[in-house]
Amino acid sequence: MSFADLGLSEELLRAVGDTGYTDPTPIQASAIPSVLMMRDIIGVAQTGTGKTASFVLPMIDILAHGRARALMPRSLILEPTRELAAQVAENFEIYGKYHKLSMALLIGGVQMGDQVKALEKGVDVLIATPGRLMDLFGRGKILLNGCSMLVIDEADRMLDMGFIPDIEEICTKLPKQRQTLLFSATMPPPIKKLADKFLSNPKTIEVARPATTNINIAQWVVPVKAQAFEKRQILRQLLREEAVSTAIIFCNRKTTVRELNKSLKQHGFAAGEIHGDMEQPARIAELDRFKKGEINILVASDVAARGLDIKGVSHVFNFDAPWHPDDYVHRIGRTGRGGATGIAYTLVAPDDAENIDNIEKLTGQKIERRQVTVAEEPKPERARRAKPDPEPEAAPSGERAPRRSRERPADREPERPAERGSERPAERGRDRDRSRDTGEYRRRRDPVDDGPDDGWNGPVPAFLSVSLGG
Ligand code: AMP
Repeated sequence: MSFADLGLSEELLRAVGDTGYTDPTPIQASAIPSVLMMRDIIGVAQTGTGKTASFVLPMIDILAHGRARALMPRSLILEPTRELAAQVAENFEIYGKYHKLSMALLIGGVQMGDQVKALEKGVDVLIATPGRLMDLFGRGKILLNGCSMLVIDEADRMLDMGFIPDIEEICTKLPKQRQTLLFSATMPPPIKKLADKFLSNPKTIEVARPATTNINIAQWVVPVKAQAFEKRQILRQLLREEAVSTAIIFCNRKTTVRELNKSLKQHGFAAGEIHGDMEQPARIAELDRFKKGEINILVASDVAARGLDIKGVSHVFNFDAPWHPDDYVHRIGRTGRGGATGIAYTLVAPDDAENIDNIEKLTGQKIERRQVTVAEEPKPERARRAKPDPEPEAAPSGERAPRRSRERPADREPERPAERGSERPAERGRDRDRSRDTGEYRRRRDPVDDGPDDGWNGPVPAFLSVSLGG
């Protein structure tokens, strides 16, 4: 099947042709004709499947006719994080270049004034994180009753972040007669309930079994006896042995991200870091360095890296096995994208054993073990200088198992719900404190991902109210 068979306009086919994509991905092939027929859709699909284009493309054609009115966006796309919202905006720019649609991005960290101005002009497409949208709605700066198309993207992430009550409220503000598309990598009961309540006779499209891993990714578990020190040695050895062109290394805690990045740099690797404690401009700058190839290793936390579409990552390393098994699927999904093959290694110390068991239960796959013996390492450049190598020292405090560790809660990432979907907004703060020592937090809104204005000067403001094409 080709894109031309899907019922898209000539202009869109031209824009798709410009990207070099020849064949629609399975979710695009199934979803696009149904969206064009105005069906509601439940898309069970992970990032990396081409799901963004599966709603962006038909939306552009549907919205091509009609005019935007002040304060009344014609369509709304809800995203859990600013980064994902910005990525969707980029997709609208790419595919909408031969159309005259206007778009606005409503996300935390961008001056509210600019966003209000964009809305006042009238927009065809509004891409928003729930927190900022509710905020502006509450101030009467936005009317949702002209919004005939709604996309709820990454619904399971929204659930993790405690956004479901906001989404329910937003849904009630939209006209009943509308088209609703919901995308989620998994369909836990609260998401099914949301879909039952707010979608009308939806067509369900499942492109991969929930929580399955991509077959293009070769996966290995590397058993490690001790904690941080041996993990770092083995990691360096793998980085040297493997033909690593670009790698993302995931850690469970922000402290580990910082310390590992520092250690890798000291050993001569071109590494950088992103984690939830960094301000948005710093995160974007670090990502840009990675995308430009100034660094080829990015040490990341789950929250900071969620959903990011970084192309051509050859390797993913899990320095820690994630506490929650679906994060494993999300993490290793950074490699093996768009048909490319990828390699994922997970270092498993005794403290990670339970996590890897849960991952194997969720994915229904036994991951092959690979024993790595540590060989003698080349002396790092720095070792010849006066400063001693920090490696042989005791493991830093933040690198113990979550359930036994005593590190400050702020150093932990991710903040996950103990039981998905059971949280009520009023409970969020209490739950977080109550479970402080279990390592199992309920995830609240991540203030970094959707917080108040914090002077973000990254690239996103350029997308505000841009005219697409013409
Ligand atoms: P998504 O699942 O939307 O995050 O997309 C994952 C990646 O697939 C992005 O880099 C897209 O640009 C890319 N992509 C989208 N559609 C296609 C296609 N038809 N063929 C190849 N790659 C695609």
